[in-house]
Amino acid sequence: MSIKNNLLEIKSSLPEHVTLVAVSKTKPVPDLMEAYEAGQRIFGENKIQEMADKYEQLPKDIEWHMIGHVQTNKVKYMAPFVSLVHGVDSMKLLAEINKQAAKNNRVIDCLLQVHIAEEETKFGMDQKELTAVITSDDFQQMKNIRVTGLMGMATFTEDETQIKKEFDHLKSIFDNLDQQREAANLKPKTLSMGMSGDYKLAIACGSTMVRIGSSIFGHR
Ligand SMILES: *Cc1c(COP(=O)(O)O)cnc(C)c1O
Repeated sequence: MSIKNNLLEIKSSLPEHVTLVAVSKTKPVPDLMEAYEAGQRIFGENKIQEMADKYEQLPKDIEWHMIGHVQTNKVKYMAPFVSLVHGVDSMKLLAEINKQAAKNNRVIDCLLQVHIAEEETKFGMDQKELTAVITSDDFQQMKNIRVTGLMGMATFTEDETQIKKEFDHLKSIFDNLDQQREAANLKPKTLSMGMSGDYKLAIACGSTMVRIGSSIFGHR
């Protein structure tokens, strides 16, 4: 199967309200170009340097999503062009994105990452930290970021019951988000959950954005 065929097949299977992020990390520019020519305009990368290099080389109507863990000192390299940062998991990182967005005269959309998996290694905030962030006065003051939703990753397991439980949990946190605080920079609309192995289940659980890599571009 070609990248184009994989992409078109996945796209045709997605409900209309679900956005596809084509996860192109580690893949060479010609592979992204093939997806681009098949109509894909949203690409996800997990390393800032790699994303910036690809941004330079590829058409400028691509939306670049940072889906990986972000180091504060590297935010400046993506601030001029990134369109959505999925993995925001601390107030410190949010503050840095706000600062760098201001320097570039823009507002950067962010998703707060929530820890829903059993593994300790997956990044993200718990419900308490999330509430602390969005109800803080510091957050309220950040004019150059906008929190447009949540992102989460389920445990890496074959156990669908477990995965479903974690996705349901994230969906319930998402549904309660805007009741916690009225804020100009809190506009929840996106629930980013689901990857190649679990996106169908994620959609059934309420996902509005899926991040799919290997099912489009092949194994890494
Ligand atoms: C790599 C990655 C994906 C895509 O994973 P696939 O299994 O290849 O679809 C999705 N989300 C995040 C955060 C990733 O790092």
